[in-house]
Amino acid sequence: MTPSEAILEKHRHRHLPIISAPAGSDAPDLPDFEGVPAEEILEWAFAEFGLDVVLASSMQDSVLIDLAWKVEPRVEVFFLDTGFHFYETIATARSVRQRYNLNLVMLDPVDDPAVWSEEGYKACCAGRKVVPMNNYLKDKKAWMSGLRRAESETRAHAKAVEWDAARGLVKINPIVEWSNKKVEHYIKHHDLIVNPLKLQGYDSIGCVPCTIPGNGREGRWAGSLRVECGIHQMHPAVADQPEPPAAG
Ligand code: SF4
Repeated sequence: MTPSEAILEKHRHRHLPIISAPAGSDAPDLPDFEGVPAEEILEWAFAEFGLDVVLASSMQDSVLIDLAWKVEPRVEVFFLDTGFHFYETIATARSVRQRYNLNLVMLDPVDDPAVWSEEGYKACCAGRKVVPMNNYLKDKKAWMSGLRRAESETRAHAKAVEWDAARGLVKINPIVEWSNKKVEHYIKHHDLIVNPLKLQGYDSIGCVPCTIPGNGREGRWAGSLRVECGIHQMHPAVADQPEPPAAG
């Protein structure tokens, strides 16, 4: 039995409940990992998908990278290089790559005039984040993110393993149940690299024009109705948030 088969067998024996896919959907039945430690969710992910599961990082901290790298050091991590990041974020990406000798892929904004034909936050996020990520994920089987329920109301119902219907992929959120305190403790205990802006009042860090200091995600697109950039939008039939005023 290979190590991957042994891990899959281990999870079969745990008798995890199964989340059944809705009738008529393309989604697979997925195990319900509620209450399962992040390390075991990651073990399952790599055993199930090998290196075809990739990890999205915004370089706010390196918690999920550290956890994943300890399970599979060859993990491919991608970063959406929008061209509008803070210097500190790019410096964090460089430091993290060096510390873990990380297989880090930087994704550039899309080079497609059709995507840039509109103005406003939604179009900007599409061209710099959503479309590059969708293109990159086309030949993958699953993707992981550090999304947590404690971050915002819009994330409060996320599960550890979900079906990303918009992309036809499994999405894995290994630390979805972690509190802010647990994240802080893990960072301290493992002496992890953190974006220095986190120490300057930025709880959530995105692009320079759309980020101010604030608790949770309140500093993102502050003063507009926008609360998510769209990369976590998993239901193509559901309209994106209403388009707020254009960036000033
Ligand atoms: S966060 Fe702001 S600057 Fe960055 S891609 Fe979205 S709209 Fe553009």
